[in-house]
Amino acid sequence: MKIGFIGLGNMGAPMAKNLAVAGHQVIGFDAAGVGVEGVETAATAAEAARGRDAVITMLPNGAVLRSVYDEIVPHGQRGAVFVDCSTVDVESARAAHEQAAKAGLLSVDAPVSGGIAGAAGGTLTFMAGGSPESVAAAGALFEIMGQKAVHCGDPGAGQAAKICNNMILGISMIGVCEAFALGDKLNLDRQSLFEVVSTSSGACWSVNQYCPAPGVGPESPADNDYKPGFAAELMLKDLLLSQRAAASADAATPMGSLASALYQTFVDSGGRGQDFSAILLDLAAQGHDNH
Ligand code: NAD
Repeated sequence: MKIGFIGLGNMGAPMAKNLAVAGHQVIGFDAAGVGVEGVETAATAAEAARGRDAVITMLPNGAVLRSVYDEIVPHGQRGAVFVDCSTVDVESARAAHEQAAKAGLLSVDAPVSGGIAGAAGGTLTFMAGGSPESVAAAGALFEIMGQKAVHCGDPGAGQAAKICNNMILGISMIGVCEAFALGDKLNLDRQSLFEVVSTSSGACWSVNQYCPAPGVGPESPADNDYKPGFAAELMLKDLLLSQRAAASADAATPMGSLASALYQTFVDSGGRGQDFSAILLDLAAQGHDNH
């Protein structure tokens, strides 16, 4: 296939490379002038989109997605599939779908889980929203860049699934960190706490696969000075998207709201650039009445 790829950052660059390695003809564009091995460089986003069978975007947020779509949709080849893999607000995702549909294009919102390692290894999980025809048209690309693609429903459903998942993750990570900080103050050995929780009803990904306490459980960013992994500011971004969606859908998310506030404080007070599990250090440093 002839594929345009717009947004060659930490995630987009390795994803584009994997498509090229699989034998597709990939032409890429990034506003920062990034080049990727095996990927031809376009001078503009419009050039990357013109005459392609598929156009993938991997951009920072909904505002950028909207401005890039204004530029590229008029150049889309009728019947081509436009796949947005960025994490953006549900409204921007739906607006992008509408714009693409009016131009006779197929479109999918397909945010990912799996991070930079998943992008490099071609093991991402895609959460796809769009018509069955559109999702089917993107299927071969998902297979190269990822290990699993779930068709979640109509346009925007991929973004909805992504922010629901990450809202659970933010809340559960804070819960696990609170338990380790409390355990410390009760003189409970961290290894013992891990062994109990990871095999009891408190078990969850945040403790079993990504334990925030260094030296405990499988290797995680905690064992590497909390280098991300998944940076605290990206967790905050997803939590804020969940709160924006909750407000527009009139949904009660009290824990999501509190998790957003806690990550906002953490990011503003030195957590930026650290893994999101480093919020353990912050909680452990506080007393009962000063959080
Ligand atoms: P990044 O900042 O490394 O990359 C974004 C790229 O978009 C940059 O290279 C930037 O120059 C480019 N860009 C910005 N405006 C542009 C424009 N108008 N035209 C063309 N290019 C433009 O970010 P990333 O880590 O690659 O993340 C991309 C998306 O994936 C985000 O929405 C993020 O939330 C999501 N995501 C990231 C991770 C992760 O672990 N990094 C995991 C899952 C999802």
